[in-house]
Amino acid sequence: MNQEFSFPHRHANHHDEAFAALPQTANFEMVASTFKQLSDPVRCRIFLLLCHSEECVINIAAFMNMSSPAVAHHLKLLKVSGLVQTRREGKEVFYRAAQSNLAQELHRMIEKVMNLSCCNEK
Ligand SMILES: [Zn+2]
Repeated sequence: MNQEFSFPHRHANHHDEAFAALPQTANFEMVASTFKQLSDPVRCRIFLLLCHSEECVINIAAFMNMSSPAVAHHLKLLKVSGLVQTRREGKEVFYRAAQSNLAQELHRMIEKVMNLSCCNEK
């Protein structure tokens, strides 16, 4: 933190270390873009499905009652952000949540926010 910086107000709960430890705004880009991927209810729903099951675009689209191109668009965004991974088997491409700590944490977070129990643990 800038040595010459002084706060306009002084409050009892002020904690200098919190300000000193706070990364620059530019360092939050990855966090913001990750949450941006989950800022859409349809993408959240597809992501949560793929946390529990591997599926192809056609089945996801049928289940979601959406067109395949619309679902493919959401899957592309989730894949680019690293939250979803693919596996090719012949002509078929299967999607599932990435096997990463981040994807696992977001999976748990969605279930917590929605008060759902995880169907992987039944
Ligand atoms: Zn779950």
